[in-house]
Amino acid sequence: MSAQSTGAEAVAWELGDLYEAADDGRLEADVSRALSEARAFRERYHGRVAALDAAGLAEAVAELERIQSVFVRAESFAFLSFSVDTADPARGALLQRIEEQSAALSTEVLFFGLEWVAVDDARAARLLADPVLARHHHFLAAARRYRPHLLSEPEETLLAEKNLTSSSAWSRLFTELTSALRISIDGEEVGLEEGLSRLQQPDREVRRKAAEALTEALQAERRTRSYIFNTLLLDKSTEDRRRGYKSWIASRNLSNEASDASVDALVEAVISRYDIPQRYYRLKAKLLGLDRLADYDRMAPILATSTPTSWEEARAIVLEAYSAFSPVTGGIVSDFFERRWIDAAIRPNKQSGAFCATTIPGVHPYVLLSFTGERRSVLTLAHELGHGIHGVLAADQGLFNAQTPLTLAETASVFGEALTFSRLLAAESDPERRLELLVGRLEDAIATTFRQVAMNRFEDSIHNGRRTEGELAPDRFCSLWIESQRAMLGDAVDLSDGYRIWWSYIPHFVGAPGYVYAYAFGYLFSLAIFRRYEREGPSMVGPYLDLLRAGGSDTPETLAKIVGLDLSDPGFWADGLDAVDQLLAEAEALAAETGRA
Ligand SMILES: [Zn+2]
Repeated sequence: MSAQSTGAEAVAWELGDLYEAADDGRLEADVSRALSEARAFRERYHGRVAALDAAGLAEAVAELERIQSVFVRAESFAFLSFSVDTADPARGALLQRIEEQSAALSTEVLFFGLEWVAVDDARAARLLADPVLARHHHFLAAARRYRPHLLSEPEETLLAEKNLTSSSAWSRLFTELTSALRISIDGEEVGLEEGLSRLQQPDREVRRKAAEALTEALQAERRTRSYIFNTLLLDKSTEDRRRGYKSWIASRNLSNEASDASVDALVEAVISRYDIPQRYYRLKAKLLGLDRLADYDRMAPILATSTPTSWEEARAIVLEAYSAFSPVTGGIVSDFFERRWIDAAIRPNKQSGAFCATTIPGVHPYVLLSFTGERRSVLTLAHELGHGIHGVLAADQGLFNAQTPLTLAETASVFGEALTFSRLLAAESDPERRLELLVGRLEDAIATTFRQVAMNRFEDSIHNGRRTEGELAPDRFCSLWIESQRAMLGDAVDLSDGYRIWWSYIPHFVGAPGYVYAYAFGYLFSLAIFRRYEREGPSMVGPYLDLLRAGGSDTPETLAKIVGLDLSDPGFWADGLDAVDQLLAEAEALAAETGRA
């Protein structure tokens, strides 16, 4: 399909709101200004943060924010210009140079955060209560959340230096091993990505062979991979103990600004609806004409690809979806298209995937995707524009408060996808195509919620296992993996013996322990808001826009209250899960109606 023209071929962004071009003299001027101002900032405040009064502190934070904004403008330009042509050496060199200068800038101002965190609690509380600091309250308060877990300065320095030869070294070895993995299929050697992508092939035999070959490649490295996992599990356990974290997940929850209770409630709620993936995979087996799915069938395509959507159609669908919700969101989306803040063309050396890059307050975000005309591409456009709306609306919060923690980062994107999806579904009367739409949506929901929570359960079992049982044998990892997967899939999917080793290539477990649940958190949080909107209609629009305008100016639990949601309610997560249940029920009914199941 990518060979066909979609009309997106000429859709390139215009970076002039940042700089005219890479050789625009203002770029160099901004970089050196930011660096010299950072040095001046250090001279003025180093060793003096503890003595600042509230007004002085407010002035310092505002100055820091201003200096960083100047720099981030240059950084954004370098990154965006590189992302559309990663093979151009000049763009690569500019990005590299700016990143090195960024590190230099961070080093200059690092003291500020450290000195602020060192201020004693009583004094900090008095300062934070002063209205003059209202604008920077969350930024300053959040920076202090690690305080109870910090060690002495020599210990911190030692840990930071030794980290290069401990956890980050093991993590890098894992990455290198995974990159070097060669999977042998019918005499052909392919890498991990290619091997995994064959699981999406329509031919079952191709999928089965790819799965077997991947199993074989992973089996050959099982001792090494288990050793890396064991080492990292022990490393984390040691550090958690030293820093006084009560559980393996506590440090992750702290960085996500999510309470342990809300995360526990999320995990419980998702587990209690494992009937949804099981029902879905039974339905999928029927749609594929199989008695039961094998593990390698889960990614198989279900229906022949439908006619591609042109860029103009996609633009109209997405714009209408956002405009029907509110003129505010419609207006922002229209700006993205009209003022060329989107790069959608497919080009050889363009960065793969899609993103929305927030730049600085005062300049809008930019959206990048490679538009193929597939239905997925339309939803990706809606998704990234949701991020874009969030960025535009939160800009008044300033650089430090606009960014949300991971747990809220997908609020507007998932919501925008849901808006667009319901529009697509409403416009489609052909039952086969409605089924195709629903199936795509269900696969996303399952991958984002159930699969992530099942992976979180595996992580939970290996971290706790390593802490209570000592070093885990390779087969112990395999058993814990299969248990976590079987819990989610029940007898709906036939898990082969080979599948037992498939825990051992997943990078999140190694590089970002505890990370995966945040996908489920963000997705269900956003679906819960969408459900409320469906029930309550226009009265939800204002609060929703206020939520986006609030950016990351408070904790997720406080921000959720703007839209009337209570994250501490253990029943909170059920709503988003019910929405998925309803989609599934509709898919089941359509499958029966069209005689496909
Ligand atoms: Zn996103």
